[in-house]
Amino acid sequence: MKIYNTMTRKKEEFIPVEPGKVKMYDCGPTVYNYFHIGNARNLLVFDVIRRYFEFQDFQVTYVQNITDIDDKIIAQSIAEGISTEDVTAKYISAFLEDMDKLDIKKPDFQPLATQYIEKMIAFIQSLEDMGAAYESAGDVYFAVEKFENYGKLSGRKLKDLKVGARIEENEQKNSPFDFTLWKNAKPGEPAWQSPWGKGRPGWHTECVVMSRDLLGDTFDIHGGGNDLVFPHHENEIAQGESIAGHPYVNYWLHNGFLNIEGEKMSKSAGNFFLARDILQKYSAEAIRYFFLSKHYRSPIDFNEEIIIQSQAAVKNLYHSLKDIDYLNFSELPQYSALQMELRQQFINVMDDDFNTARALAIVFEAAKEVRNKNLVISERMAYARLMVELGEVLGFFRNLKEKLTDVDNFSAKTASLVEMLISYRQEFKKDKNWQWADRIRNDLAAIKIKLKDTPQGTEWEIEDE
Ligand SMILES: [Zn+2]
Repeated sequence: MKIYNTMTRKKEEFIPVEPGKVKMYDCGPTVYNYFHIGNARNLLVFDVIRRYFEFQDFQVTYVQNITDIDDKIIAQSIAEGISTEDVTAKYISAFLEDMDKLDIKKPDFQPLATQYIEKMIAFIQSLEDMGAAYESAGDVYFAVEKFENYGKLSGRKLKDLKVGARIEENEQKNSPFDFTLWKNAKPGEPAWQSPWGKGRPGWHTECVVMSRDLLGDTFDIHGGGNDLVFPHHENEIAQGESIAGHPYVNYWLHNGFLNIEGEKMSKSAGNFFLARDILQKYSAEAIRYFFLSKHYRSPIDFNEEIIIQSQAAVKNLYHSLKDIDYLNFSELPQYSALQMELRQQFINVMDDDFNTARALAIVFEAAKEVRNKNLVISERMAYARLMVELGEVLGFFRNLKEKLTDVDNFSAKTASLVEMLISYRQEFKKDKNWQWADRIRNDLAAIKIKLKDTPQGTEWEIEDE
């Protein structure tokens, strides 16, 4: 299996620290708001990566932190006129709810920063003791010049940074690039007692302490959006490697940006979409299809037309299963050589830095064979089995049984409603009430249900959209 490593800027063979195990960490949300569609991409990408490792029989430990203490949370608590605890409780539960609605599997651990304050203080203390950090007016900073390899992830050299520096000078710091490990509390802010007075940890320290605690001081995969490469992940490396003296993480994975119709998403530009609003209109699987149809490292352009197309594509998968009456097969057939080959192709493309776009295409190839009436039914059913197996690796088909049954009930009810309207129309025609008879026909046509009068009676069909 090959994975693109941001650190080396190339695809590398994946060799886990412990054979058969994968330890991965993804930078989770700061809970001061509902999450937006750009955040959803990161969550879905890492959900699929985790599922694929599990499919390959790795024992996965997946950690995704929740930042529940931060300047933005304090600002939000002032804006909403509620305590910071109420802000975080509200947005943590919204986050978990939206994750579930997106069919994202719960990570194995979702540590809260506030549960780790003591360990963070001890960690900062160790950095201070070894001379990598210093206290200044109640704040503690990391001295970047003490870490020789600073900038190795982002490819930024300290001396280049200095030339182009637009970072504001801060008299408390020795160097403008030194970053905060511990922040002195202003009056009224949430604060914890520490050797440097009352304060709270900095964000870069939160992630490095929680990941090391749960995954060890060198673990396999650390991920996040590519906006986190610098300074967040760079700063995590500086701390983790200063303490351990050896690599903090072996593979750095970063997903690409999301644009809205070619523009950067921003609240001020008015093109800002929350995941929960999109979920009101479109299914979780349509959103998943949309994201997976692009490679995770590529930028992706969001527009509703593509989501609508994605929704139709997913619907087709369900129709294929319905056509073949998938649920009523008591025993699914074994794969033949043809299905085994298609399955291997799926593995090959996923092994190539998680090429979900090509993996999705393979799921649809299987779906095409499910609908292929030239094949015997057992062959079509074997393709259906493959389509479901591979689709599930990509996170589709949650609650498949209920969904297929719902489709059945819904179609049956729709059919009897249409039949009912047709019978009313017959009555109107008998009474020569053409106005109402036409109205029924036209209103049905408006929702793409076409009536056709034949000598045997009225037939109807659903027109293709
Ligand atoms: Zn982080």
